[in-house]
Amino acid sequence: MTFRVWFYFLVLTGFVMLFLWMLQITFIGPYYERNRTQSTLNTVTSIEHQLARDNISSAEKEISRLLTQENMCGAVYNERGTRVILVAELPTSCHLDSLSNNAVSEFISMTNRSASSDFSIRFNSDILDQGMYFYGRSTKLADYNYYIFVNTPIELLDSTVYVLKRQFGLVAMVVFSVATFVTFALSRRLSQPIVNITNMAKRLGEGDLDVAFDEREYSEVSALSHTLNYATEEFRKTDELRRDLVANVSHDIKTPLTMIKAYAEMIQDISGDNPEMREKHLKVIVEETNHLERLVNDMLTLSKYESNVFELKETRFNLLQHVQATLNLFQMMPVTFDVKINPNIFVYADEIKMGQVLYNFVNNATRYTGDDPMIQVHAARFGDEVEISVIDKGPGIEPELQDRIWDRYYRIDKNYTRTGGSSGLGLSIVRAICEASGSRYGLESKVGEGSRFYYRLKIDLS
Ligand code: ADP
Repeated sequence: MTFRVWFYFLVLTGFVMLFLWMLQITFIGPYYERNRTQSTLNTVTSIEHQLARDNISSAEKEISRLLTQENMCGAVYNERGTRVILVAELPTSCHLDSLSNNAVSEFISMTNRSASSDFSIRFNSDILDQGMYFYGRSTKLADYNYYIFVNTPIELLDSTVYVLKRQFGLVAMVVFSVATFVTFALSRRLSQPIVNITNMAKRLGEGDLDVAFDEREYSEVSALSHTLNYATEEFRKTDELRRDLVANVSHDIKTPLTMIKAYAEMIQDISGDNPEMREKHLKVIVEETNHLERLVNDMLTLSKYESNVFELKETRFNLLQHVQATLNLFQMMPVTFDVKINPNIFVYADEIKMGQVLYNFVNNATRYTGDDPMIQVHAARFGDEVEISVIDKGPGIEPELQDRIWDRYYRIDKNYTRTGGSSGLGLSIVRAICEASGSRYGLESKVGEGSRFYYRLKIDLS
């Protein structure tokens, strides 16, 4: 890639040099000629104005200045063919001071014959070996005709072109060498980061998740690196999750299954005839089956919510009644609820799905509550939304884990506890529902003091 970019830069430099060459060397002749003829016409017009403004003798000085400045020589004749002004400060290139009377009369009659009262001749000067331009125009001053003739070289001298060519050759050499250097450095600078990214991406593709893309490069590459770093981070998370998933699910399913098998065998071999023992063992089997059922249900619910195929069925309902209906499901738990919700608030949301969010928050609060079994469920208004908080006095969650607990299968305590009934999916279900319905949700927690999980619903004022 470096070489290709380099090559393109050099081709571009070549084109620019070629263009300059054409402009400088090839077109300079015609360009110069056009320029000279145009300035001759302009100068003659200025002379005309000068003559009209001053009388002949006082105009001579200014006319001389005009012509010399333009490297021209000129003469003004009256109707009788008598020269009244001659400016020939550059005698070698001037053909006017040696004009014969015949030639003058011929020029005067050429001017008179012309419809536009002027004429021009282009000829080659033998002395200078150079193209010349001769221009004549008649002008009327106080009822008398005057004839202005101007003569100027219109070709560049060969020596000038030669110098220009040599100079251009030198410039071309310098420009090419500098361009070769600079463009090589530049193309390396442009392509090296991309080559690095490609190599890194290759490693990433081969499964190396420790690659880091350099974000300090120029903006486009930096943006690409940033995106790739983000992708790598996501891959890393997915990979971790996949590993966790295999470990957790197999562990979570295997452990209850082992227990179920062991207790069933115990009933078979030992406690079959002892109703008390049998009851105890059957209770464990039922608990383990419940746990398995919960795990499978959570997995199904989450995959349903995450697949984005579910529809939100939003309706208007009373918030307090809705919260109480959900809390009723926890009647059997050894916790008490302190509910502070204005009974007049109505919200507009999907009641079942939002009920699931509240259920999962309260379910966690009951499981992670500390010595104080009081769980607060409060609602506070924020504009046209109401924020529902579930507050516990449990162990709290460390700040660096507060983002991670919403991930699938993420559990702070990775150990299996039979009574815990933890699947690591409850909060990811909350996240999936809240994100699909556009509800704000979150957590505030301090280790040792407890946690406040919250989500928001739209208030219905109708
Ligand atoms: P689980 O089924 O394990 O509770 P969740 O997704 O609901 O799965 O929660 C993820 C993790 O977040 C839990 O394993 C727990 O460590 C932590 N957690 C959730 N709620 C609370 C809470 N109220 N207090 C302390 N930790 C909590």
